[in-house]
Amino acid sequence: STFQELGLNDDLLQGITDLGFETPSEVQEKAIPILLQDEGDLVALAQTGTGKTAAFGFPMLQKIDVNSRTTQGLILSPTRELCLQIANEMKAYGKYCKGLNVVAIYGGSSITDQAREVKRGAQIIVATPGRMKDMISRKLVDITKIQYSVLDEADEMLNMGFKEDITDILSGTPKDKSTWLFSATMPKEVARIAKDFMHEPKEITV
Ligand code: AMP
Repeated sequence: STFQELGLNDDLLQGITDLGFETPSEVQEKAIPILLQDEGDLVALAQTGTGKTAAFGFPMLQKIDVNSRTTQGLILSPTRELCLQIANEMKAYGKYCKGLNVVAIYGGSSITDQAREVKRGAQIIVATPGRMKDMISRKLVDITKIQYSVLDEADEMLNMGFKEDITDILSGTPKDKSTWLFSATMPKEVARIAKDFMHEPKEITV
């Protein structure tokens, strides 16, 4: 199938053309129609390099309201490098989404600068769990209007000891939001998070 057939809008299709993506990858083909149509939760078993960033990124970009400056999408990822990579990909995917602001939040860099960027109005935040929790407790970010949350590389985040940060963060977001969990493996700890924070998720495997 084509990206157009998956239901993506013209702004995203134009960005995709610029990037030179010709056909959707398997995880994109499976996840995008579900995420565009449903407001529910999703568990996706997918390795890195499969195109999973676009699989959750395109639907999130299509669903958020760029005319509002409130933070509507939150992507949690295990490391600073991944965080920056995802944020840069989201910006590239959303090149033609006028008014879009994507902000990366991660440790080891100025919290004041990151807070200033958020304050300018970020519809999407890509964050590592530790710094995100820190900014929430200092009231530098508002997570009460989040509608879409992604746990990217959930197994890695739990391996790195972020379980409590993740559960604290998710607990502060609206109950009726959608949660999309991406993980290469499904150990007990990941299944536990899915059970505690997700409601009858759809499941895909690639
Ligand atoms: P990811 O698994 O999200 O880290 O993506 C791996 C790489 O594949 C990234 O460099 C993407 O920009 C690229 N990519 C993602 N989807 C596609 C696609 N449908 N066609 C070509 N390249 C893609």
